[in-house]
Parts: sequence; structure tokens; C-alpha cells
Amino acid sequence: CGIIGLCLRDKKALRLGEAIYRGLLRLEYRGYDSAGVAVVSDGKLVVLKGKGKLRDLEEKYSFTKLEGVTGIGHTRWATHGAPSDVNAHPHTDCGNVFAVVHNGVLENYLELKKALSARGHVFRSETDTEVVAHLIEEYYRETGDVYQAFRRAVAALKGAYALLMVTPLEPDKIFFARKDSPLVIGVGPGYNLVASDIPALLEHTRRIIVVRDGWVGYITPSSIHVEDASSGRLVNAADYVRIVE
Ligand code: GLU
Repeated sequence: CGIIGLCLRDKKALRLGEAIYRGLLRLEYRGYDSAGVAVVSDGKLVVLKGKGKLRDLEEKYSFTKLEGVTGIGHTRWATHGAPSDVNAHPHTDCGNVFAVVHNGVLENYLELKKALSARGHVFRSETDTEVVAHLIEEYYRETGDVYQAFRRAVAALKGAYALLMVTPLEPDKIFFARKDSPLVIGVGPGYNLVASDIPALLEHTRRIIVVRDGWVGYITPSSIHVEDASSGRLVNAADYVRIVE
């Protein structure tokens, strides 16, 4: 139901875990049944998630103590698969290399899940979202290129999504895609953020880019890469920055 992502150039500029947790608290008003965080830290992927309230999960996992340069967080409002620890986001592939959070509903997930299972992918959750992590894994095996694998995975999806993905293979990037679910980029000095709504970003920046339907790309601490998924045309992100009061 809510999404936040942050990438930092300098760990001293902002504390990663704390900023993600605070972002999630700002998304609480939308309602949720579970929550989770994934960070890339020292070349490793750390995923912590579960059913329940953010404060209880913070007590259990200490999200706020997580360090690293790139991280994503999610509050879930279950649509496919009951509220549970396993069904909480982020979801990962078999190799635990790609971590995905998602708002929305994927209409063709059953057919994708079937095809991926036939190719040996083992699923842990009952969510529609988990197919995305396995699709990325599958296309990464074919292409050896994370961004290309992400774009191909997104192209295979039908339905509504705001998606974020992090991986230790590209430790300073957060990959994003949007269709029929809100997503906003926040432009900061030495860091960039992405979230499902503006209030989650305002603590850090007032320079905002509203992500359009069909955009796919990635943010790094100092750059924003956007393209239009259907045409492959590059979008000049700077043209879309606006200042919110
Ligand atoms: N459809 C996904 C799920 O049930 C995402 C729900 C959401 O937007 O929070 O896990």
C-alpha cells in the first residue's frame, strides 16, 4: 500500500535505516497489515519483514539501525495472499539477489508463476508480487544486465504497479517502474528518494518529480535515469522537477 526508497552518496548525509523507517511511518495513514525493508549493505542484501505494526516490527528488527547506501521499504495491504510474514514485502528471487516491493495488483501473475515454476523457480509466498523477482532473475540469467532484466520483467507484467527493486549487483541504484499506481521521485543534495506519495518525501526535499504512467528507470544518489517503457525514448528528468510548498 505504501512504498519508500532512498539512495545515499554519503552515509553521513542521512541514516539509511532511520530515513526509511520514518518514511514508512508517514505512509501509515493509508492502512497496512504488514511491512518490510531491504537494504544493500557492504555488498549484501538484507531483507527484514513481517506481519504487524511498524513499531512492533521495529522492536523486533531495528530497521532504524540498518546501514548502507540503498534501501527500500513497504507497507502492505494484502490483495493476493493472506497477511503473513512470508507474504510481506520485499520479495526476492531464488538466489536472494533481487528484492522487490510493489503496490498494486498483477493480473497475469498466475500464468507467469506457472511458466516460472516450470523453469524451476520455487515460490515462497502466495503474492502476485513475487513473480517479479523471479522474472528479473530469469532475464538476468539470459542478459547478464540488471537494468535490461528489470525492463524485460516490467514489460511482461499486466495490471497495476508501482515497483521498486534493489540488488547488490548494482549497489547504488534503485530501479523503478510505474503503471496505474502512484510513484514520486524526490531530488535531494547527495541523495535521491522515491515513494508512493509526496508527504513521505517532504522531510528530505521539496524538489519532486511525479512519475508518469509507463516510465521505467533508476535513481542513484546523484542521478535519475528515466525512459518511456513503450517507446524506449529517454526522458529528461530535469524537465519534470517541480517544487512543492
Ligand atoms: N498485490 C500485492 C500484495 O498483495 C501488493 C499489495 C499492496 O499494494 O500493498 O502483496
